Amino acid sequence: MIVKCPICSAPVTWSQQSPFRPFCSKKCQLIDLGEWASEERSIADKSQNQTPSQLDIEEIEAMLSEQPDDFFKP
Ligand SMILES: [Zn+2]
Repeated sequence: MIVKCPICSAPVTWSQQSPFRPFCSKKCQLIDLGEWASEERSIADKSQNQTPSQLDIEEIEAMLSEQPDDFFKP
């Protein structure tokens, strides 16, 4: 039996092999519980120094630094 994850609609096999059913993963289960934010922070602290938001800012700054000096002039 295959069900859809209520969070991301991924197919989930309804069996002992899917401990987070009806969710596809612990991530989606946590989203449903409203605990995703705190879990994300703890994972980030352990596995990497940069959060996604910090990466985004660095990418934007890198893009801007590659523009010609007169890019912002009218
Ligand atoms: Zn999911």
